[in-house]
Amino acid sequence: MAKILIVEDNKESLDLMTYLLDHCGHSIITASDGEEAIEKAKQHRPDLIICDIQLPKLNGYEIAKILKNDKLLKHVPLVSVTAYAMVGDRNKVRDSGFDAYISKPIDLVQFVVQIDSLLPAELRSNKSINLQPNPSTISAKKQDRIYCKALLVDDFSASRELYKILLESIGVEVTAVSNVNEALSYLQKQVPDFILSEFHLPDNGGLAFLKLVRNNVAWKSIAFIFMSTTHPDKNEMQEMKILNVTRFILSPIDTSAFFNIIKSIMSMIKDKNH
Ligand code: MN
Repeated sequence: MAKILIVEDNKESLDLMTYLLDHCGHSIITASDGEEAIEKAKQHRPDLIICDIQLPKLNGYEIAKILKNDKLLKHVPLVSVTAYAMVGDRNKVRDSGFDAYISKPIDLVQFVVQIDSLLPAELRSNKSINLQPNPSTISAKKQDRIYCKALLVDDFSASRELYKILLESIGVEVTAVSNVNEALSYLQKQVPDFILSEFHLPDNGGLAFLKLVRNNVAWKSIAFIFMSTTHPDKNEMQEMKILNVTRFILSPIDTSAFFNIIKSIMSMIKDKNH
């Protein structure tokens, strides 16, 4: 287990990297601008630093320069995670002192492996992310698997991918869509056991989607789970309650807590049908 500093101003990206590395047993420190990055690096002396390039106050190149000139911090592996894909940018990242480069969007399965490979053996994660279900654990835990159908609605592809893989790893058949219109056309063809939807969806928004589901005779009893990285406000909470939301999940969520929620909702559905 390593102490890792993640410097990233995009909240979704920061949450996702934090989720993945924390889940694998690393301890995470975060910073969302350049000055905070330097401050936290000096204060915590992390084992590895993951750093975005475009950042407020000091950019990634400036951060790299400062860190690589600090005798206490220059040996700490410094990894850039950035959307820049040009070869020239890659060279610039290397030349300014970064030890490695991971391009965005990050590969959910490979990310932890890539980070671990930059750490000394004794600091690598002891738990695997297990996003790709391992056949032996599946057969061993067959009784734990849930055979049901879910509709997953999320406009953020990385999180859609993550939840799809997590659900499939416990046997759920997932149809993943990126917007409300696609969700509605799926629902016209079939009724899933539950809907897992991002709360902050563009256009109509998650609440409007929930409203449509609850006002349709064929869909109104489908279990409906919202997820979001931010707390809903008081009015949104109230409206969700009126529309009979089944559950609200604050993301990122620990994998086992997430599975427990899905399992309890599924057993609730089964009880109702008996
Ligand atoms: Mn940025």
